[in-house]
Amino acid sequence: MKRMKEITDKANKVLENADSSIYSGQRIDIVKLAKSFGFMVGISKKLPIREDGFIYVAPDGTKRIVVNKFRSVEDKRFTVAHELGHYFLHIEKADNLVLLREHKKDIKPTEKNFEDEADFFAACVLMPEQVFVAEKNKLTKAGYNENEIVSKLGETFGTNRETVFKRMEEVAIVQAQS
Ligand SMILES: [Zn+2]
Repeated sequence: MKRMKEITDKANKVLENADSSIYSGQRIDIVKLAKSFGFMVGISKKLPIREDGFIYVAPDGTKRIVVNKFRSVEDKRFTVAHELGHYFLHIEKADNLVLLREHKKDIKPTEKNFEDEADFFAACVLMPEQVFVAEKNKLTKAGYNENEIVSKLGETFGTNRETVFKRMEEVAIVQAQS
């Protein structure tokens, strides 16, 4: 992915400007964060089973993020963060109506890069590099094995195991580049 540094900076900026009330411990209230940018955030039980959610941004200022009701709390949180990624990286300045629906399983290769970028933004917001590394090091020092560390980091940040694993790899890449 080409824009890792840029996306990391953007995510950090969003967090720096956010109200401290979005935090409970290290976990951020992603819905509250989305609302602070004017989004209405809802859940729907009528989305197609393979669809995670969607983002809708209209020229009149209407902004909506909807997530599939039949997803875990962790997956819902990630989807909201992913949609915010699309907003900040791909559609913030659009003056046409934008509706992006999320079907992870059959995206076209041309859309893959946008999806990867939105995923990376989501990980940066939910698991900011510095606190993520600090938590991970603390757990390593305390003698937990990798499997336990992944679980505990997931509990701390409200993310699923898959995204914690991926975040560990990303952080290693980002740190190797700097
Ligand atoms: Zn997407």
